[in-house]
Amino acid sequence: MNAPFLHTDRPSATQAEGPENGVATIAIVVPVHNEEDAISPFLEAVRQNTDALAEQGLAFEFIFVNDGSTDATLERLIEAQAQDPRIRVLDLSRNFGKEAAMTAGLDACDADAAIPMDVDLQDPPYVIPLLIEKWREGYEVVLAKRTDRSSDGFMKKRTASMFYRVHNYMAAQKIPHDVGDFRLIDRQVIDALRALPERRRFMKGLFAWVGFNTATVEYVRDPRLTGSSKFSGWKLWNFALEGITSFSSAPLEIWTYVGATISAFSFLYGLLIVAKTLIFGIDVPGYASILVSVLFLGGIQLLGIGIIGQYLGRVYAEIKQRPIYIVRRSYGGTS
Ligand code: UDP
Ligand code: MG
Repeated sequence: MNAPFLHTDRPSATQAEGPENGVATIAIVVPVHNEEDAISPFLEAVRQNTDALAEQGLAFEFIFVNDGSTDATLERLIEAQAQDPRIRVLDLSRNFGKEAAMTAGLDACDADAAIPMDVDLQDPPYVIPLLIEKWREGYEVVLAKRTDRSSDGFMKKRTASMFYRVHNYMAAQKIPHDVGDFRLIDRQVIDALRALPERRRFMKGLFAWVGFNTATVEYVRDPRLTGSSKFSGWKLWNFALEGITSFSSAPLEIWTYVGATISAFSFLYGLLIVAKTLIFGIDVPGYASILVSVLFLGGIQLLGIGIIGQYLGRVYAEIKQRPIYIVRRSYGGTS
């Protein structure tokens, strides 16, 4: 059987170092936002873990996407690029968010496989050879799964596990628990992702949606090397909403059933009141029950409208068809 990195039918295999001459290229795609201190330790650690693979006919390249950093991240990247021609740097025109930055990196990637990684070394580079091993066995997607989240706080662990449960309950394509963006994806998967037109990109969901043969490798997640997490509680909440609304319309549709149930009960209650009035005459008291039902229904309606708003906002963002990101300049590579 052909190893997957020796595909010859790949239409985009135009690069000189493509698989035609037996060398497979792997792009490490790294979105960075205010990470000036993390870049050189990251490069160091990745090199240590990948240099030996060069003998096995693997060439690595790095695609850093500078996602609107306000510190010296870009300078550090340009310095690194000057020393190592395997590095490419895309400088986005502002902060577009990690999902958009990763999309930019994957769009720019013409390697035979890509590995999206965080720069803070929370995605340990020693896993890279393990991912590649599985890829060579023929898997198109190799997930890196955290077996231990003890580097995350209690709340993050709880909310993350709740998110996976709720999301997978509602969405048709399940996303695997405790798997981040760290994974290896084959050229075919990159092309499939590129073909997805949506602007609001919940990458974990998109990865799951495209499918392909998937293997899993396990690792222990370390604490962040330097700096602090870019994702606050509020950002994570919105990220979770993004995931659920992108891949399930259940929150919209459920109102049909909520409405039907309330209407059915109201109808029965109406019949009861008519019968009671006919038998016992007009009964004036009822202030409390009227107030409670008005407030209850008002609350339910606002909730329903709010959920419609969540989807409408996303539909609006999609129909505007603005680009997902804007590249100010790129450094290195062929472009
Ligand atoms: N990141 C980015 N744009 C952002 C926020 C984060 O490119 O707006 C990058 C960040 O530099 C890092 C990766 O995304 O390489 C993961 O971020 P972080 O470590 O803060 O997330 P956490 O590990 O806390 O989930
Ligand atoms: Mg991190």
